[in-house]
Amino acid sequence: MVEDMTTPLLSDSEAPSDALPVRLTGLTVAILGSGDFSRSLAVRLVASGVRVVVGSRCVNRIPSGLFPDGVELRNQEGALSQVCLVFMAMFPEHYCSLLGLQSALAGKVLVDVSNGAKVNIHGPSNAERLAELFPDSLVVKGFNTVSTWELQTGAHDGSRQVMICSNSTEGKKKVVQLARRMGFHPVDMGGLSAAREIEVAPLRLFPSWSGPVVVTFLLFLFFYGYGFLRGILLPYLAQGHNAFYRLAFDLVEESLPAVALVTLALVYLPGLFAAWLQLWRGTKYRRFPSWLDNWMQRRKQLGLLSFLCAALHGVYSLCLPLRRITVHRLVNTAYTQVKAGTEEPWDELGVWRSDLYLSCGVLGLGVLSLLAITSLPTVGNTLNWREFTFVQSGLGYIALTLSIMHTLFFGWDFAFHIEAYPFYMPPSYLLAVVLPCIVLVCRCFLLLPCIFTRLTRIRRGWESKHNCPVLQHHHVVPNGIP
Ligand code: NAP
Repeated sequence: MVEDMTTPLLSDSEAPSDALPVRLTGLTVAILGSGDFSRSLAVRLVASGVRVVVGSRCVNRIPSGLFPDGVELRNQEGALSQVCLVFMAMFPEHYCSLLGLQSALAGKVLVDVSNGAKVNIHGPSNAERLAELFPDSLVVKGFNTVSTWELQTGAHDGSRQVMICSNSTEGKKKVVQLARRMGFHPVDMGGLSAAREIEVAPLRLFPSWSGPVVVTFLLFLFFYGYGFLRGILLPYLAQGHNAFYRLAFDLVEESLPAVALVTLALVYLPGLFAAWLQLWRGTKYRRFPSWLDNWMQRRKQLGLLSFLCAALHGVYSLCLPLRRITVHRLVNTAYTQVKAGTEEPWDELGVWRSDLYLSCGVLGLGVLSLLAITSLPTVGNTLNWREFTFVQSGLGYIALTLSIMHTLFFGWDFAFHIEAYPFYMPPSYLLAVVLPCIVLVCRCFLLLPCIFTRLTRIRRGWESKHNCPVLQHHHVVPNGIP
Protein backbone atom coordinates (compact mmCIF):
# COMPACT_ATOMS: atom_id res chain seq x y z
CA MET A 1 0.00 0.00 0.00
CA VAL A 2 2.77 2.40 0.99
CA GLU A 3 4.65 1.31 -2.11
CA ASP A 4 1.61 2.02 -4.24
CA MET A 5 1.29 5.45 -2.74
CA THR A 6 4.85 6.36 -3.58
CA THR A 7 5.21 4.75 -7.01
CA PRO A 8 4.24 7.28 -9.66
CA LEU A 9 2.13 6.00 -12.52
CA LEU A 10 3.95 8.35 -14.84
CA SER A 11 7.63 8.69 -14.29
CA ASP A 12 9.03 12.21 -14.30
CA SER A 13 11.03 11.39 -17.40
CA GLU A 14 7.82 10.81 -19.32
CA ALA A 15 6.51 14.27 -18.54
CA PRO A 16 7.39 16.95 -21.05
CA SER A 17 9.82 19.59 -19.88
CA ASP A 18 7.25 22.40 -20.29
CA ALA A 19 4.70 20.59 -18.11
CA LEU A 20 3.15 22.17 -14.99
CA PRO A 21 5.28 22.11 -11.83
CA VAL A 22 5.45 18.51 -10.65
CA ARG A 23 3.84 17.81 -7.25
CA LEU A 24 4.82 15.30 -4.62
CA THR A 25 4.10 12.21 -6.67
CA GLY A 26 4.83 13.49 -10.12
CA LEU A 27 1.65 11.86 -11.38
CA THR A 28 -0.52 13.61 -13.93
CA VAL A 29 -3.81 12.39 -15.33
CA ALA A 30 -6.13 13.90 -17.89
CA ILE A 31 -9.92 14.08 -17.73
CA LEU A 32 -11.77 14.54 -20.98
CA GLY A 33 -15.03 16.40 -20.34
CA SER A 34 -15.79 19.16 -17.87
CA GLY A 35 -19.16 18.02 -16.50
CA ASP A 36 -20.28 16.93 -13.02
CA PHE A 37 -18.27 13.72 -12.88
CA SER A 38 -15.15 15.40 -14.20
CA ARG A 39 -15.35 18.11 -11.53
CA SER A 40 -15.85 15.68 -8.65
CA LEU A 41 -13.12 13.37 -9.94
CA ALA A 42 -10.74 16.33 -10.19
CA VAL A 43 -11.50 17.30 -6.57
CA ARG A 44 -10.68 13.78 -5.39
CA LEU A 45 -7.56 13.46 -7.54
CA VAL A 46 -6.18 16.80 -6.40
CA ALA A 47 -6.89 15.86 -2.77
CA SER A 48 -4.88 12.67 -3.40
CA GLY A 49 -1.88 14.65 -4.61
CA VAL A 50 -2.39 13.94 -8.30
CA ARG A 51 -1.95 16.60 -10.93
CA VAL A 52 -5.00 17.00 -13.15
CA VAL A 53 -5.42 18.39 -16.65
CA VAL A 54 -9.00 18.75 -17.88
CA GLY A 55 -9.52 18.56 -21.62
CA SER A 56 -12.61 20.37 -22.84
CA ARG A 57 -14.09 21.07 -26.26
CA CYS A 58 -14.48 24.69 -25.23
CA VAL A 59 -12.27 25.83 -22.33
CA ASN A 60 -13.68 29.38 -22.38
CA ARG A 61 -17.12 28.09 -21.46
CA ILE A 62 -15.92 26.67 -18.15
CA PRO A 63 -16.74 29.17 -15.35
CA SER A 64 -13.74 30.13 -13.24
CA GLY A 65 -13.64 28.42 -9.85
CA LEU A 66 -15.56 25.35 -11.09
CA PHE A 67 -12.50 23.16 -10.72
CA PRO A 68 -10.22 23.20 -7.67
CA ASP A 69 -7.05 25.27 -7.67
CA GLY A 70 -4.17 23.67 -9.51
CA VAL A 71 -6.32 21.94 -12.13
CA GLU A 72 -5.19 22.96 -15.58
CA LEU A 73 -7.81 23.53 -18.27
CA ARG A 74 -6.82 22.86 -21.85
CA ASN A 75 -8.37 21.82 -25.10
CA GLN A 76 -8.80 18.08 -25.58
CA GLU A 77 -5.62 17.54 -27.59
CA GLY A 78 -3.53 19.78 -25.33
CA ALA A 79 -4.62 17.82 -22.24
CA LEU A 80 -3.48 14.53 -23.75
CA SER A 81 0.06 15.61 -24.49
CA GLN A 82 1.16 15.42 -20.86
CA VAL A 83 -0.26 12.16 -19.64
CA CYS A 84 -0.49 8.40 -20.04
CA LEU A 85 -3.81 7.96 -18.19
CA VAL A 86 -7.04 9.56 -19.38
CA PHE A 87 -10.48 9.52 -17.75
CA MET A 88 -13.29 9.64 -20.30
CA ALA A 89 -15.77 11.74 -18.25
CA MET A 90 -18.41 11.99 -20.98
CA PHE A 91 -21.37 10.01 -22.20
CA PRO A 92 -20.46 7.01 -24.39
CA GLU A 93 -22.46 8.33 -27.36
CA HIS A 94 -19.83 11.10 -27.63
CA TYR A 95 -16.82 8.79 -27.84
CA CYS A 96 -16.89 8.90 -31.67
CA SER A 97 -16.35 12.67 -31.53
CA LEU A 98 -12.83 11.86 -30.28
CA LEU A 99 -11.87 9.73 -33.29
CA GLY A 100 -9.66 12.57 -34.55
CA LEU A 101 -7.55 12.11 -31.39
CA GLN A 102 -6.85 8.43 -32.08
CA SER A 103 -3.10 8.94 -32.48
CA ALA A 104 -2.92 11.23 -29.42
CA LEU A 105 -4.67 8.55 -27.37
CA ALA A 106 -2.60 5.64 -28.73
CA GLY A 107 -0.70 3.75 -26.02
CA LYS A 108 -2.53 5.59 -23.23
CA VAL A 109 -4.77 4.07 -20.57
CA LEU A 110 -8.38 5.14 -21.20
CA VAL A 111 -10.63 4.82 -18.16
CA ASP A 112 -14.26 4.39 -19.17
CA VAL A 113 -16.41 5.71 -16.32
CA SER A 114 -19.77 5.49 -18.09
CA ASN A 115 -22.87 3.74 -16.79
CA GLY A 116 -25.15 1.61 -18.94
CA ALA A 117 -28.34 3.17 -20.31
CA LYS A 118 -30.61 0.28 -19.26
CA VAL A 119 -30.29 -2.88 -17.17
CA ASN A 120 -31.32 -5.28 -19.95
CA ILE A 121 -29.26 -4.17 -22.89
CA HIS A 122 -27.77 -6.42 -25.55
CA GLY A 123 -24.59 -6.02 -27.56
CA PRO A 124 -21.16 -4.85 -26.47
CA SER A 125 -20.64 -2.72 -23.38
CA ASN A 126 -19.60 0.95 -23.57
CA ALA A 127 -16.05 -0.01 -22.62
CA GLU A 128 -15.88 -2.67 -25.35
CA ARG A 129 -17.12 -0.13 -27.89
CA LEU A 130 -14.49 2.34 -26.69
CA ALA A 131 -11.84 -0.36 -27.14
CA GLU A 132 -13.09 -0.96 -30.70
CA LEU A 133 -12.89 2.76 -31.48
CA PHE A 134 -9.38 3.10 -30.03
CA PRO A 135 -7.63 -0.22 -30.67
CA ASP A 136 -4.20 1.22 -29.87
CA SER A 137 -5.23 2.38 -26.39
CA LEU A 138 -5.50 0.35 -23.19
CA VAL A 139 -9.15 0.56 -22.16
CA VAL A 140 -10.00 0.02 -18.50
CA LYS A 141 -13.51 0.04 -17.07
CA GLY A 142 -13.84 1.55 -13.62
CA PHE A 143 -15.09 4.25 -11.24
CA ASN A 144 -18.61 4.26 -12.72
CA THR A 145 -19.98 2.72 -9.50
CA VAL A 146 -18.65 5.71 -7.53
CA SER A 147 -21.00 8.66 -7.34
CA THR A 148 -19.96 12.29 -7.61
CA TRP A 149 -20.94 12.69 -3.95
CA GLU A 150 -18.60 9.87 -2.91
CA LEU A 151 -15.81 11.39 -4.95
CA GLN A 152 -16.27 14.81 -3.38
CA THR A 153 -16.74 13.73 0.22
CA GLY A 154 -13.91 11.22 0.09
CA ALA A 155 -14.02 7.46 0.20
CA HIS A 156 -14.56 7.42 3.95
CA ASP A 157 -18.16 8.61 3.72
CA GLY A 158 -19.22 6.49 0.79
CA SER A 159 -18.66 3.06 -0.69
CA ARG A 160 -14.97 2.22 -0.83
CA GLN A 161 -15.30 -0.36 -3.60
CA VAL A 162 -14.28 0.43 -7.16
CA MET A 163 -14.89 -2.38 -9.65
CA ILE A 164 -12.24 -2.52 -12.35
CA CYS A 165 -11.82 -4.70 -15.44
CA SER A 166 -9.64 -4.64 -18.53
CA ASN A 167 -7.97 -6.87 -21.08
CA SER A 168 -4.72 -4.98 -20.46
CA THR A 169 -2.87 -6.07 -17.33
CA GLU A 170 -0.64 -3.01 -17.52
CA GLY A 171 -3.58 -0.61 -17.81
CA LYS A 172 -5.49 -2.32 -15.03
CA LYS A 173 -2.47 -2.19 -12.73
CA LYS A 174 -2.15 1.56 -13.20
CA VAL A 175 -5.83 2.19 -12.49
CA VAL A 176 -5.73 -0.10 -9.45
CA GLN A 177 -2.78 1.88 -8.06
CA LEU A 178 -4.55 5.15 -8.70
CA ALA A 179 -7.78 3.93 -7.05
CA ARG A 180 -5.81 2.93 -3.96
CA ARG A 181 -4.09 6.30 -3.89
CA MET A 182 -7.51 7.95 -3.94
CA GLY A 183 -8.53 5.93 -0.88
CA PHE A 184 -10.74 3.42 -2.67
CA HIS A 185 -10.70 -0.34 -2.54
CA PRO A 186 -10.23 -1.62 -6.11
CA VAL A 187 -11.90 -4.92 -6.95
CA ASP A 188 -10.45 -6.72 -9.99
CA MET A 189 -13.39 -8.09 -11.99
CA GLY A 190 -11.25 -9.65 -14.72
CA GLY A 191 -11.32 -8.97 -18.47
CA LEU A 192 -13.23 -6.29 -20.35
CA SER A 193 -16.14 -8.69 -20.92
CA ALA A 194 -17.09 -8.00 -17.27
CA ALA A 195 -17.73 -4.34 -18.19
CA ARG A 196 -21.40 -4.89 -19.00
CA GLU A 197 -22.04 -6.22 -15.49
CA ILE A 198 -20.12 -3.28 -13.97
CA GLU A 199 -21.98 -0.76 -16.15
CA VAL A 200 -25.41 -1.90 -15.04
CA ALA A 201 -24.43 -2.30 -11.37
CA PRO A 202 -25.43 1.31 -10.46
CA LEU A 203 -28.77 0.91 -12.28
CA ARG A 204 -30.03 -2.11 -10.39
CA LEU A 205 -32.78 -1.38 -7.90
CA PHE A 206 -32.26 -3.59 -4.83
CA PRO A 207 -31.75 -6.73 -7.00
CA SER A 208 -31.63 -9.14 -4.08
CA TRP A 209 -34.57 -7.54 -2.27
CA SER A 210 -37.36 -7.74 -4.83
CA GLY A 211 -38.27 -11.42 -4.14
CA PRO A 212 -38.28 -11.14 -0.32
CA VAL A 213 -40.17 -7.82 -0.43
CA VAL A 214 -42.83 -9.30 -2.74
CA VAL A 215 -43.18 -12.40 -0.51
CA THR A 216 -43.49 -10.26 2.64
CA PHE A 217 -45.98 -7.95 0.98
CA LEU A 218 -48.11 -10.87 -0.26
CA LEU A 219 -48.06 -12.41 3.21
CA PHE A 220 -49.18 -9.10 4.66
CA LEU A 221 -51.98 -8.85 2.10
CA PHE A 222 -53.07 -12.40 2.91
CA PHE A 223 -53.23 -11.89 6.69
CA TYR A 224 -54.77 -8.44 6.36
CA GLY A 225 -57.39 -9.73 3.90
CA TYR A 226 -58.08 -12.76 6.05
CA GLY A 227 -58.52 -10.61 9.16
CA PHE A 228 -60.78 -8.25 7.25
CA LEU A 229 -62.99 -11.09 6.04
CA ARG A 230 -63.15 -12.86 9.39
CA GLY A 231 -63.36 -9.92 11.76
CA ILE A 232 -65.08 -7.18 9.77
CA LEU A 233 -66.80 -8.09 6.52
CA LEU A 234 -68.54 -11.35 7.45
CA PRO A 235 -69.78 -10.07 10.87
CA TYR A 236 -71.07 -6.96 9.10
CA LEU A 237 -72.91 -8.98 6.44
CA ALA A 238 -74.24 -11.55 8.92
CA GLN A 239 -75.11 -9.38 11.93
CA GLY A 240 -74.83 -5.81 10.64
CA HIS A 241 -72.04 -5.26 13.18
CA ASN A 242 -69.95 -2.27 12.06
CA ALA A 243 -66.27 -2.72 12.94
CA PHE A 244 -64.71 -0.97 9.97
CA TYR A 245 -62.81 1.34 12.33
CA ARG A 246 -60.48 -1.65 12.93
CA LEU A 247 -59.05 -1.32 9.41
CA ALA A 248 -56.51 1.39 10.24
CA PHE A 249 -54.88 0.01 13.38
CA ASP A 250 -56.20 -3.30 14.67
CA LEU A 251 -55.84 -5.24 11.46
CA VAL A 252 -52.34 -3.93 10.77
CA GLU A 253 -51.34 -4.71 14.35
CA GLU A 254 -52.73 -8.24 13.98
CA SER A 255 -51.16 -8.91 10.58
CA LEU A 256 -47.61 -7.72 11.35
CA PRO A 257 -46.69 -10.42 13.90
CA ALA A 258 -48.16 -13.12 11.66
CA VAL A 259 -46.05 -11.89 8.74
CA ALA A 260 -42.96 -11.63 10.97
CA LEU A 261 -43.40 -15.22 12.18
CA VAL A 262 -44.00 -16.78 8.77
CA THR A 263 -41.13 -14.79 7.20
CA LEU A 264 -38.80 -15.96 9.96
CA ALA A 265 -39.84 -19.54 9.26
CA LEU A 266 -39.11 -18.93 5.57
CA VAL A 267 -35.53 -18.02 6.56
CA TYR A 268 -34.91 -21.50 7.98
CA LEU A 269 -37.09 -23.59 5.66
CA PRO A 270 -34.66 -23.65 2.66
CA GLY A 271 -31.84 -24.85 4.95
CA LEU A 272 -34.05 -27.80 5.92
CA PHE A 273 -34.90 -28.56 2.30
CA ALA A 274 -31.19 -28.49 1.49
CA ALA A 275 -30.37 -30.85 4.38
CA TRP A 276 -33.11 -33.34 3.45
CA LEU A 277 -32.03 -33.18 -0.19
CA GLN A 278 -28.43 -33.96 0.74
CA LEU A 279 -29.58 -36.84 2.94
CA TRP A 280 -31.77 -38.23 0.20
CA ARG A 281 -29.11 -37.87 -2.51
CA GLY A 282 -26.34 -39.08 -0.20
CA THR A 283 -23.95 -36.41 -1.46
CA LYS A 284 -23.31 -32.69 -1.21
CA TYR A 285 -21.66 -32.55 -4.64
CA ARG A 286 -24.86 -32.24 -6.66
CA ARG A 287 -26.20 -28.75 -7.20
CA PHE A 288 -29.41 -27.69 -5.54
CA PRO A 289 -32.26 -26.74 -7.89
CA SER A 290 -32.00 -23.07 -8.84
CA TRP A 291 -35.17 -22.09 -6.92
CA LEU A 292 -33.59 -23.45 -3.73
CA ASP A 293 -30.27 -21.74 -4.48
CA ASN A 294 -32.05 -18.41 -4.98
CA TRP A 295 -34.11 -18.89 -1.85
CA MET A 296 -30.97 -19.65 0.22
CA GLN A 297 -29.35 -16.48 -1.09
CA ARG A 298 -32.32 -14.37 0.03
CA ARG A 299 -32.38 -15.58 3.64
CA LYS A 300 -30.66 -12.48 4.98
CA GLN A 301 -33.22 -10.19 3.33
CA LEU A 302 -36.12 -12.32 4.58
CA GLY A 303 -34.64 -12.21 8.09
CA LEU A 304 -34.31 -8.43 7.99
CA LEU A 305 -37.89 -8.05 6.75
CA SER A 306 -39.08 -10.36 9.53
CA PHE A 307 -37.21 -8.15 12.00
CA LEU A 308 -38.84 -5.06 10.51
CA CYS A 309 -42.34 -6.53 10.89
CA ALA A 310 -41.58 -7.70 14.44
CA ALA A 311 -40.21 -4.27 15.39
CA LEU A 312 -43.29 -2.56 13.91
CA HIS A 313 -45.49 -4.99 15.82
CA GLY A 314 -43.65 -3.96 19.01
CA VAL A 315 -44.22 -0.27 18.30
CA TYR A 316 -47.88 -0.86 17.45
CA SER A 317 -48.35 -2.80 20.69
CA LEU A 318 -46.81 0.03 22.70
CA CYS A 319 -49.26 2.42 21.07
CA LEU A 320 -52.28 0.32 22.03
CA PRO A 321 -52.95 2.19 25.34
CA LEU A 322 -52.86 5.52 23.46
CA ARG A 323 -55.81 4.59 21.27
CA ARG A 324 -59.02 6.45 21.80
CA ILE A 325 -61.00 3.22 21.80
CA THR A 326 -58.81 1.76 24.58
CA VAL A 327 -59.31 4.83 26.76
CA HIS A 328 -63.04 4.73 26.01
CA ARG A 329 -63.37 1.06 26.99
CA LEU A 330 -61.26 1.52 30.13
CA VAL A 331 -63.29 4.47 31.38
CA ASN A 332 -66.57 2.75 30.50
CA THR A 333 -65.63 -0.47 32.31
CA ALA A 334 -64.51 1.50 35.38
CA TYR A 335 -67.74 3.52 35.35
CA THR A 336 -69.90 0.38 34.96
CA GLN A 337 -68.08 -1.35 37.81
CA VAL A 338 -68.28 1.66 40.11
CA LYS A 339 -71.98 1.98 39.33
CA ALA A 340 -72.61 -1.69 39.99
CA GLY A 341 -70.32 -1.69 43.06
CA THR A 342 -68.20 -4.53 41.65
CA GLU A 343 -64.52 -4.82 40.92
CA GLU A 344 -62.33 -6.78 38.52
CA PRO A 345 -61.49 -10.17 40.11
CA TRP A 346 -57.79 -11.06 40.50
CA ASP A 347 -56.97 -13.56 37.75
CA GLU A 348 -53.61 -15.10 38.60
CA LEU A 349 -53.60 -17.42 35.61
CA GLY A 350 -54.36 -14.49 33.33
CA VAL A 351 -51.44 -12.56 34.82
CA TRP A 352 -49.10 -15.50 34.21
CA ARG A 353 -50.33 -15.80 30.66
CA SER A 354 -49.88 -12.12 29.80
CA ASP A 355 -46.45 -11.94 31.50
CA LEU A 356 -45.18 -15.02 29.68
CA TYR A 357 -46.61 -13.75 26.42
CA LEU A 358 -44.94 -10.34 26.81
CA SER A 359 -41.66 -11.75 28.06
CA CYS A 360 -41.30 -14.20 25.15
CA GLY A 361 -42.15 -11.41 22.71
CA VAL A 362 -39.58 -9.00 24.11
CA LEU A 363 -36.88 -11.69 24.26
CA GLY A 364 -37.70 -12.87 20.74
CA LEU A 365 -37.43 -9.32 19.42
CA GLY A 366 -34.14 -8.85 21.28
CA VAL A 367 -32.61 -11.97 19.70
CA LEU A 368 -33.95 -10.95 16.28
CA SER A 369 -32.25 -7.54 16.72
CA LEU A 370 -28.99 -9.33 17.40
CA LEU A 371 -29.42 -11.35 14.21
CA ALA A 372 -30.16 -8.18 12.24
CA ILE A 373 -27.07 -6.45 13.63
CA THR A 374 -24.75 -9.37 12.87
CA SER A 375 -26.05 -9.52 9.30
CA LEU A 376 -24.43 -6.09 8.71
CA PRO A 377 -21.17 -6.73 6.79
CA THR A 378 -19.13 -4.56 9.17
CA VAL A 379 -20.26 -6.62 12.17
CA GLY A 380 -20.45 -10.00 10.41
CA ASN A 381 -16.87 -9.61 9.15
CA THR A 382 -15.58 -9.49 12.73
CA LEU A 383 -16.99 -12.97 13.42
CA ASN A 384 -15.33 -16.20 12.40
CA TRP A 385 -17.35 -18.87 10.59
CA ARG A 386 -18.30 -20.75 13.76
CA GLU A 387 -19.41 -17.57 15.56
CA PHE A 388 -21.42 -16.46 12.53
CA THR A 389 -23.15 -19.87 12.22
CA PHE A 390 -23.87 -19.90 15.94
CA VAL A 391 -25.50 -16.47 15.78
CA GLN A 392 -27.39 -16.91 12.50
CA SER A 393 -28.47 -20.52 12.97
CA GLY A 394 -28.39 -21.18 16.74
CA LEU A 395 -29.75 -17.81 17.86
CA GLY A 396 -32.07 -17.79 14.84
CA TYR A 397 -33.80 -20.95 16.01
CA ILE A 398 -33.97 -19.51 19.53
CA ALA A 399 -35.69 -16.43 18.09
CA LEU A 400 -38.09 -18.67 16.17
CA THR A 401 -38.87 -20.73 19.30
CA LEU A 402 -39.46 -17.60 21.39
CA SER A 403 -41.72 -16.15 18.70
CA ILE A 404 -43.76 -19.38 18.56
CA MET A 405 -44.07 -19.38 22.37
CA HIS A 406 -45.09 -15.70 22.24
CA THR A 407 -47.89 -16.64 19.84
CA LEU A 408 -48.95 -19.72 21.79
CA PHE A 409 -49.09 -17.78 25.09
CA PHE A 410 -51.16 -15.17 23.29
CA GLY A 411 -53.55 -17.88 22.07
CA TRP A 412 -53.48 -19.73 25.43
CA ASP A 413 -56.63 -21.86 25.53
CA PHE A 414 -58.74 -19.49 23.43
CA ALA A 415 -57.92 -21.60 20.39
CA PHE A 416 -59.97 -24.41 21.93
CA HIS A 417 -63.08 -22.28 22.32
CA ILE A 418 -65.74 -22.44 19.65
CA GLU A 419 -66.03 -18.59 19.68
CA ALA A 420 -62.50 -18.44 18.26
CA TYR A 421 -63.86 -19.88 15.01
CA PRO A 422 -66.52 -17.50 13.72
CA PHE A 423 -67.67 -18.61 10.26
CA TYR A 424 -65.44 -21.70 10.75
CA MET A 425 -62.37 -19.49 10.32
CA PRO A 426 -59.51 -19.96 12.81
CA PRO A 427 -57.75 -16.87 14.19
CA SER A 428 -54.84 -15.61 12.05
CA TYR A 429 -52.24 -16.31 14.76
CA LEU A 430 -53.15 -20.00 14.54
CA LEU A 431 -52.56 -19.97 10.79
CA ALA A 432 -49.29 -18.10 11.28
CA VAL A 433 -47.90 -20.58 13.77
CA VAL A 434 -48.32 -23.68 11.56
CA LEU A 435 -45.28 -23.25 9.28
CA PRO A 436 -42.88 -22.18 12.09
CA CYS A 437 -43.92 -25.25 14.10
CA ILE A 438 -43.28 -27.52 11.10
CA VAL A 439 -39.83 -25.91 10.65
CA LEU A 440 -39.00 -26.40 14.31
CA VAL A 441 -40.12 -30.05 14.33
CA CYS A 442 -38.16 -30.84 11.13
CA ARG A 443 -35.10 -29.20 12.65
CA CYS A 444 -35.46 -31.37 15.75
CA PHE A 445 -35.61 -34.46 13.49
CA LEU A 446 -32.34 -33.41 11.89
CA LEU A 447 -30.77 -33.37 15.35
CA LEU A 448 -31.58 -37.06 15.93
CA PRO A 449 -28.14 -38.78 16.25
CA CYS A 450 -28.61 -41.20 13.31
CA ILE A 451 -29.65 -38.38 10.94
CA PHE A 452 -27.24 -35.80 12.33
CA THR A 453 -24.22 -38.12 11.97
CA ARG A 454 -25.06 -39.01 8.38
CA LEU A 455 -25.63 -35.35 7.45
CA THR A 456 -22.36 -34.30 9.08
CA ARG A 457 -20.47 -36.98 7.13
CA ILE A 458 -22.09 -35.88 3.87
CA ARG A 459 -21.15 -32.27 4.58
CA ARG A 460 -17.54 -33.34 5.20
CA GLY A 461 -17.37 -34.90 1.73
CA TRP A 462 -18.61 -38.46 2.23
CA GLU A 463 -20.82 -39.83 -0.55
CA SER A 464 -23.09 -42.83 -0.63
CA LYS A 465 -21.97 -45.71 -2.90
CA HIS A 466 -24.75 -44.85 -5.26
CA ASN A 467 -23.02 -41.51 -5.98
CA CYS A 468 -19.48 -42.71 -6.60
CA PRO A 469 -19.70 -45.62 -9.09
CA VAL A 470 -16.00 -45.41 -10.07
CA LEU A 471 -14.80 -45.78 -6.51
CA GLN A 472 -17.32 -48.56 -5.94
CA HIS A 473 -15.93 -50.41 -8.97
CA HIS A 474 -12.43 -50.42 -7.45
CA HIS A 475 -13.76 -51.20 -3.98
CA VAL A 476 -12.15 -48.01 -2.65
CA VAL A 477 -13.80 -46.23 0.23
CA PRO A 478 -13.58 -42.39 0.14
CA ASN A 479 -11.80 -40.84 3.12
CA GLY A 480 -11.66 -44.25 4.71
CA ILE A 481 -15.33 -43.99 5.71
CA PRO A 482 -17.16 -47.24 4.98
P1 NAP B 1 -22.19 15.81 -17.91
O1 NAP B 1 -22.24 16.67 -16.70
O2 NAP B 1 -23.26 15.99 -18.93
O3 NAP B 1 -20.78 16.01 -18.62
C1 NAP B 1 -20.47 15.41 -19.85
C2 NAP B 1 -19.31 16.15 -20.47
O4 NAP B 1 -18.93 15.48 -21.67
C3 NAP B 1 -19.65 17.54 -20.93
O5 NAP B 1 -19.48 18.46 -19.88
C4 NAP B 1 -18.67 17.80 -22.06
O6 NAP B 1 -17.55 18.52 -21.58
C5 NAP B 1 -18.17 16.39 -22.42
N1 NAP B 1 -18.29 16.11 -23.87
C6 NAP B 1 -17.28 15.69 -24.66
N2 NAP B 1 -17.70 15.50 -25.90
C7 NAP B 1 -18.99 15.83 -25.93
C8 NAP B 1 -19.97 15.88 -26.97
N3 NAP B 1 -19.69 15.53 -28.21
N4 NAP B 1 -21.21 16.29 -26.63
C9 NAP B 1 -21.52 16.64 -25.37
N5 NAP B 1 -20.62 16.60 -24.34
C10 NAP B 1 -19.37 16.21 -24.63
O7 NAP B 1 -22.18 14.28 -17.49
P2 NAP B 1 -21.56 13.63 -16.17
O8 NAP B 1 -22.59 13.54 -15.13
O9 NAP B 1 -20.27 14.31 -15.82
O10 NAP B 1 -21.27 12.14 -16.67
C11 NAP B 1 -20.16 11.87 -17.51
C12 NAP B 1 -19.94 10.35 -17.54
O11 NAP B 1 -19.70 9.91 -16.21
C13 NAP B 1 -21.14 9.57 -18.05
O12 NAP B 1 -20.71 8.55 -18.90
C14 NAP B 1 -21.77 9.00 -16.81
O13 NAP B 1 -22.41 7.77 -17.05
C15 NAP B 1 -20.54 8.80 -15.92
N6 NAP B 1 -20.86 8.81 -14.48
C16 NAP B 1 -21.48 9.88 -13.93
C17 NAP B 1 -21.78 9.86 -12.56
C18 NAP B 1 -22.46 11.04 -11.90
O14 NAP B 1 -22.79 10.91 -10.70
N7 NAP B 1 -22.67 12.14 -12.61
C19 NAP B 1 -21.44 8.75 -11.78
C20 NAP B 1 -20.79 7.68 -12.39
C21 NAP B 1 -20.50 7.72 -13.74
P3 NAP B 1 -16.87 19.66 -22.50
O15 NAP B 1 -18.01 20.48 -23.02
O16 NAP B 1 -16.00 20.38 -21.59
O17 NAP B 1 -16.14 18.95 -23.59
